[in-house]
Amino acid sequence: MQLRLLCKTVFPTFPDAPQECSAYTRLFLTDTPSRLVYVLYAKPQTDAPIITHTARAKWEGSLGLSNDDKDWQYCLDQLQAISPNGRLRLIHFKYIHQYYYTSLRLYRYKLQQSAVCDRCWADPADFLHLAWCCPVVANFWGPVFATLSTMLWAAVHPTPLVALLHCTRQIPRAVRRLASVALFLAKRCVAVT
Ligand SMILES: [Zn+2]
Repeated sequence: MQLRLLCKTVFPTFPDAPQECSAYTRLFLTDTPSRLVYVLYAKPQTDAPIITHTARAKWEGSLGLSNDDKDWQYCLDQLQAISPNGRLRLIHFKYIHQYYYTSLRLYRYKLQQSAVCDRCWADPADFLHLAWCCPVVANFWGPVFATLSTMLWAAVHPTPLVALLHCTRQIPRAVRRLASVALFLAKRCVAVT
């Protein structure tokens, strides 16, 4: 399903073939398996700006605000800076692209009967609800930010930009790294519970 979503993102006409698209032709009409592997590897990299622009538009739509370029670039930079651990980077990647299987997504895929949240029974439970708006999750984020502000001797305001996208530029540089690690661990807890 995620591969299908990626194809729909890269090829707006998917599953129909576009009229003029050399990339599509190269992807599906290659004559050798080794060539196909090369194209599959190179394609997401060449189309990375398209994919990240889509993710950014989705976040801006969800939050009802327009992030500036510096915030968004900082968020993307955290993919490299957050940790050398690939698994931990993957969690941040999934947050950026909202790839988690929410109740709403499972309902749309016809894998469950409703889009109701498992924690508070709100309907529909999209990604922003799962990670931020759900009252059960809000009761988790509140103490996280309060504790962080106390420990760092600096006010860290609870916003989805900071908590979910790691736009921690507002935090003083001296304690930013520590705050980033703490927020990341909190984010992982939300993702796995
Ligand atoms: Zn909920």
